[in-house]
Amino acid sequence: MSQKVALVTGGSRGIGAACALALGRAGYKVAVHYRSGEEGAKAIVAELPAGQAKAYRFDLSDPAASQELIKAVKEDLGSLDVLVNNAGVAIDQVLAFAKPEDFDTLIATNLRPVFLLSKYAAKVMIRQRSGRIINLSSVVGHTGNAGQSMYAATKAAITGFTQSIAQELAAAGILCNCVAPGFIATDMTKDLKDEVKQAILTKVPLKRLGTPEDIAHAVEFLASDKAAYITGTTLHVNGGMYTT
Ligand code: NDP
Repeated sequence: MSQKVALVTGGSRGIGAACALALGRAGYKVAVHYRSGEEGAKAIVAELPAGQAKAYRFDLSDPAASQELIKAVKEDLGSLDVLVNNAGVAIDQVLAFAKPEDFDTLIATNLRPVFLLSKYAAKVMIRQRSGRIINLSSVVGHTGNAGQSMYAATKAAITGFTQSIAQELAAAGILCNCVAPGFIATDMTKDLKDEVKQAILTKVPLKRLGTPEDIAHAVEFLASDKAAYITGTTLHVNGGMYTT
């Protein structure tokens, strides 16, 4: 059996870096995508055995980038078995002060690349008759959160998108799921004021923020043979703050 190939977007830091490392350690060849964090992406590549991982730089808010990234990974690494759509940004603002241009940035960064990368990855996976697409949504896409209406809209959209493609692609052996993190200690949450963090923790039964590794374990599971009968669902990894 040839080594499977995983592409992780936003693999330069935070959750994406943890996913890239976990998949690499589980034996996948890993394409570590980044936008500006070259040092971080190259550090992940360096942690894995020589030749097992490669870094790819693309700004995914550029509409042409997604297709180019999939093409480059397929050409360099030979196949594409697992796509982890992780790259994303948060721009928080209450509705009254929310800027339309920020909404456009969120759609262009968090949502459109999930659509485009899944579309071009699915073309490769359909030919292979197998594949996994794992999309990072968010607890706030399910619960909403005051001040995050724009961000939550992109994350809720990812859920509906994933459920739909799961139904389309099942016949081709491609399984599509979301992982919905709660509040995770990364750059995205590091600037939250202490009182905001404390308020969040009052809603988390496990009484801590999650770690990037908590999320990477869920992604690794959904990529594995152990998740062979799971598609179209969301795995919530949030310390119990929201349950279904
Ligand atoms: P970070 O802010 O730590 O990292 C974001 C990553 O996305 C970076 O690797 C960054 O690349 C990449 N990225 C941002 N913009 C672009 C772009 N235009 N093109 C390509 N790549 C881009 O985020 P987290 O690790 O915290 O979050 C990862 C995912 O998990 C996101 O989708 C986020 O919405 C989701 N999530 C996070 C939660 C949290 O509490 N942290 C909670 C729920 C969901 P670079 O550094 O190279 O520029």
